[in-house]
Amino acid sequence: MTASEIRALFAVASRPEVVSLAGGMPFVQALNLDIMAELVQRLIASRGAQALQYGSGQGDVVLREQILDVMAPVGVTAHPDDIVVTTGSQMALDLVTRVFCDPGDVVLVEAPSYVGALGVFRAYQCDIEHVAMDEQGLVPEALSEAIARSRRSGRTVKMIYTIPSFHNPAGVTQGHERRQQILAIAQSAGILVLEDDPYGLLSFDGHIPRAIRADDPDGVIYLGSFSKTIASGLRVGWAVAPHGVREKLVLAAESAVLCPSNYSQLTVSAYLETQPWLEQIKVFRELYRERRDALLESLGSMMPAGTSWTVPTGGFYSWVTLPDGLDATAMLPRAIAALVAYVPGTGFYVDGQGRQNLRLSYCYPEPDRIREGVRRLAGVVEGELVLTNTFGTGTGLHEAPGSSFPAPHLK
Ligand code: PMP
Repeated sequence: MTASEIRALFAVASRPEVVSLAGGMPFVQALNLDIMAELVQRLIASRGAQALQYGSGQGDVVLREQILDVMAPVGVTAHPDDIVVTTGSQMALDLVTRVFCDPGDVVLVEAPSYVGALGVFRAYQCDIEHVAMDEQGLVPEALSEAIARSRRSGRTVKMIYTIPSFHNPAGVTQGHERRQQILAIAQSAGILVLEDDPYGLLSFDGHIPRAIRADDPDGVIYLGSFSKTIASGLRVGWAVAPHGVREKLVLAAESAVLCPSNYSQLTVSAYLETQPWLEQIKVFRELYRERRDALLESLGSMMPAGTSWTVPTGGFYSWVTLPDGLDATAMLPRAIAALVAYVPGTGFYVDGQGRQNLRLSYCYPEPDRIREGVRRLAGVVEGELVLTNTFGTGTGLHEAPGSSFPAPHLK
């Protein structure tokens, strides 16, 4: 295991004078905290003995029924018995990997992919292979090639890990047809799809993408989370899995934590029962859309020519490609000195790609802070261009492999 670049950054980036476009922290302040306080107070007063006790390894049955309603907009139907409640979807990633993967098994992931998932796959000694993306996400032809290549080398491909909606960090979304193509490839190769969908309900244009799992309950494990739609601090997520897999996941969960927190689960359950949760998700969506707009507008008006970025239609992130010759990792100390933070692209790859890329999160800072952050970042990029033009390969990029991810919006 190694420390992720994001973790190391948090200490610096959380200083108040720094505009952090780095961490993907949900803006939980948008919840009505007085109502949350009342809800927790009522929960302890009425069901305290249950909330403060151990619970079932699979999770609270009422919450599992409510999760079915939460998944209805993405088209996932299931039985409450198919659901395993976890300590955030991060734990579900860990459990699925523990159950399926032996050292040396191949896990196919997007290029780039979620840093927390890469950490899990690495910890279980999987062989992580990146598969190219375009503005519609995972590229089917590249997926087929990666499967064939891995098999030719005698390795077992255990899973395809994908974040089809509002990707972290790429900010792109697979269209319906693309999802069908990916599923067809997985089915014909007999490979499990691990669908990670924490952002699916946070769509800005009203279109909530249909989950891949909705079209194949047997071949897809679906992961959901309340981190972005209620509160990340509650640490409640879930996995929906075929029956035989679900049993193994419960055993793995019991050996890791005995049971997920009853207190958190009952808080989520009471929230879903008594609060207009879909209305609250609308509030989050509007808030994040406004921030996305602030980011895109200021990137458009301030970034030097040659910089490009993805245009997210939901979620928290845009993926930036710097002008040729620039290196986002080498640039970071100068960005921090200019009081703006981002995550360098290399953190989202296991093979050294991503030097020319960085991830910007617009979820947490207010729109004016985002504009200020982009203003500072644009100044840093301008400065790097001058350095590169003066000293040629000054930032070292030319010796490093670049990213092949094409951003659709090129300025
Ligand atoms: N998957 C993805 C793609 C994420 O972005 C995150 C959080 N950043 C997680 C899983 C984990 O979320 P949680 O454990 O809070 O549910």
